[in-house]
Amino acid sequence: MTVGRFAPSPSGKMHLGNLFSFLLAWCSVRSAGGEMVLRMEDLDPQRTSAEFAALIRRDLRRFGLDWDREVPCQSTRTAAYDAAFEKLAGMGLIYPCYCSRAEVHAASAPHLGQSEFVYAGTCRDLTPAERAAKKRLPAWRVRVPAEAWTVHDGLQGDYTELLSRDCGDFVVRRADGVYAYQLAVVVDDAENGVTQVVRGRDLLASAPRQMYLFSLLGRPAPSYIHVPLLMAPDGRRLSKRDQDLDLGTLLERFTPEEIIGALAFAAGLIERREPVSARELAASFDWAKVRSEDICLRL
Ligand SMILES: [Zn+2]
Repeated sequence: MTVGRFAPSPSGKMHLGNLFSFLLAWCSVRSAGGEMVLRMEDLDPQRTSAEFAALIRRDLRRFGLDWDREVPCQSTRTAAYDAAFEKLAGMGLIYPCYCSRAEVHAASAPHLGQSEFVYAGTCRDLTPAERAAKKRLPAWRVRVPAEAWTVHDGLQGDYTELLSRDCGDFVVRRADGVYAYQLAVVVDDAENGVTQVVRGRDLLASAPRQMYLFSLLGRPAPSYIHVPLLMAPDGRRLSKRDQDLDLGTLLERFTPEEIIGALAFAAGLIERREPVSARELAASFDWAKVRSEDICLRL
């Protein structure tokens, strides 16, 4: 059975870009007769709150996007992340990194096409004495091999990274003790039985790292479908900073069905822009109709 998930970060209110991804994730699962899981990704206690989580649940319901079960939020899952971390450490794959952000950037190799920095492996082979001499608290990185991992993305086609060249050893636990998104999301998707991940195209480059972690932890990776990003008419990516994309503001001007209709039309799912409910959209949903390139949206 297809098991999909909403995995919002309650670090702010839901915006139109979130809604777009969630709508496609939900239609995909419902059209397949599958199960939808809701998981609050509140890893960072400084940036997330229960108030935002409540607002996100309310907004999902307003748009008819229901879920079958809500699984424990990430802030309660530290023991599970500890266990995964210890498993990787037991395999000799984890080491402490004492580099500052500026040092990582200065030492990073030029990177093809991605905006992230490739870690140069500065702390990979420090001796115990060298580690003991360091003054700062370390972050913890997982070693990556010179292996290519290919995501067979349902919308974007194949995307391959040679982890050692395109990514480098990556952080799984920050210096402040907070687990990195990459580790937490893999542990949670495995625990929650998620078989299909639908999310924004900006996360495509995370998928090879996550597939690598799934393999290390002995769990099957889900299938991935990375959906287009919504762009403003001037080409900017829409983000939380765009106040006009706040769903509360939009719902003063449009009904939920009008907003879903605009998104569905922009995605290529319906031929005319007209109000449609999420349920109606799921009844005729087909990934083959969905555009893969980013979408310029006018409301
Ligand atoms: Zn380092």
